[in-house]
Amino acid sequence: MDFAFDARTEELRAKLLAFMDEHVHPAEAVAERQRAALDSPWLTPPIVEELKAEARRQGLWNLFLPDAEYGAGLTNLQYAPLAEITGRSPQLAPTALNCAAPDTGNMEVLAQFGDERQRKQWLEPLLAGEIRSAFAMTEPEVASSDATNIETRIERDGDEYVITGRKWYISGAMNPDCKIFIVMGKTDPEGADVRRQQSMVLVPRDTPGVEVRRAMRVYGYEDHYHGGHAEVVFDRARVPVSNLIGEEGGGFAIAQARLGHADQPHAVVDPAGAEPGLG
Ligand SMILES: Cc1cc2nc3c(=O)[nH]c(=O)nc-3n(C[C@H](O)[C@H](O)[C@H](O)COP(=O)(O)OP(=O)(O)OC[C@H]3O[C@@H](n4cnc5c(N)ncnc54)[C@H](O)[C@@H]3O)c2cc1C
Repeated sequence: MDFAFDARTEELRAKLLAFMDEHVHPAEAVAERQRAALDSPWLTPPIVEELKAEARRQGLWNLFLPDAEYGAGLTNLQYAPLAEITGRSPQLAPTALNCAAPDTGNMEVLAQFGDERQRKQWLEPLLAGEIRSAFAMTEPEVASSDATNIETRIERDGDEYVITGRKWYISGAMNPDCKIFIVMGKTDPEGADVRRQQSMVLVPRDTPGVEVRRAMRVYGYEDHYHGGHAEVVFDRARVPVSNLIGEEGGGFAIAQARLGHADQPHAVVDPAGAEPGLG
């Protein structure tokens, strides 16, 4: 296989390196100063919006998304060297380019498995960088690295699903801009096929019964720039059945698709390894 950068990658690399020098690195100290003056450590420094506007203007936007209809349509081979460059300023650059976890994986899920209404309501504002999102799978009571263990219940009641469960290490949830959760739970806990028991539903943050309970430390620190990692409780939270992503029983397969490469951008973006997990 030829790993040499092709013409498009070279062009984007040059553009991105200039963007980093002219905009991102000079913004680092400004962002720190602004952050110190904010009312909450979970708010985003205003300069990030300026960086986003400039990145978008320059076409350095949604580079992570291989789907050409919604994103830049780059292959992994084209995107990886760009992610490596954004990793030189991990607090600012991935967000500036709308290429930050966990939104990246969540946007991929919506682009790949969401229906038209879900894409309009949630993918479009995510692609525009107007909101953030979270992916809620891990649970304190079970070994969550095996998704068949997940215990959160997604029970059908008429035209609604009722979600009950407790999640933790949910990246990004402390950021008030995080407006939507993709929640993994079980719709058929007794089903014979343990990989068809799970489903994924979209749960808006403002749904009654959703509580972002507390920020958690990971490796000894709270990740203020990226919305932290939170414990989130779903106490009989109700959403319309149309919030199901894909089909009932399809959650495990979607998780495999989403998580299969989720840590790859992290590994590249953050060589210090400060952000593993369900990116
Ligand atoms: C920075 C960070 C961000 C994260 N972000 C998110 C997020 O946004 N959303 C989310 O849902 N989660 C998130 N997580 C949680 C993370 O993905 C989980 O911690 C991970 O999937 C492992 O699950 P667990 O913690 O339950 O560990 P476990 O599943 O309990 O595993 C712990 C260890 O035990 C081993 N093990 C498990 N089962 C067995 C067995 N049967 N036999 C032998 N060994 C076993 C595992 O291999 C592992 O080494 C994040 C974690 C970190 C560190």
